Amino acid sequence: MANSCRGSTKTCTKCLADLSISEFNKQTRRKDGLDYWCKQCCKEYFRRYRLANLEKIKKYNSEYNKNYSKFNKEKLKAYQKEYYKQRKTNDK
Ligand SMILES: [Zn+2]
Repeated sequence: MANSCRGSTKTCTKCLADLSISEFNKQTRRKDGLDYWCKQCCKEYFRRYRLANLEKIKKYNSEYNKNYSKFNKEKLKAYQKEYYKQRKTNDK
């Protein structure tokens, strides 16, 4: 059995596998500078999270885009008008 006290391996707190430290993401806020979970567990977690929230995220993004473009239409128009006006005076 490998000796994990030497720092070359770390136990993932999620899948409880004893893995090489290269299998863990760096996490500077942690005491040992590594994530509690291995890269595979993190990947799986985010994949599940995305899947579980896909509809919510999609809805949020479309709402955001709708509001954003509506809000900025007038602003954009004013900006463009101002821009062309300035260009005209600069072209002289
Ligand atoms: Zn793991």
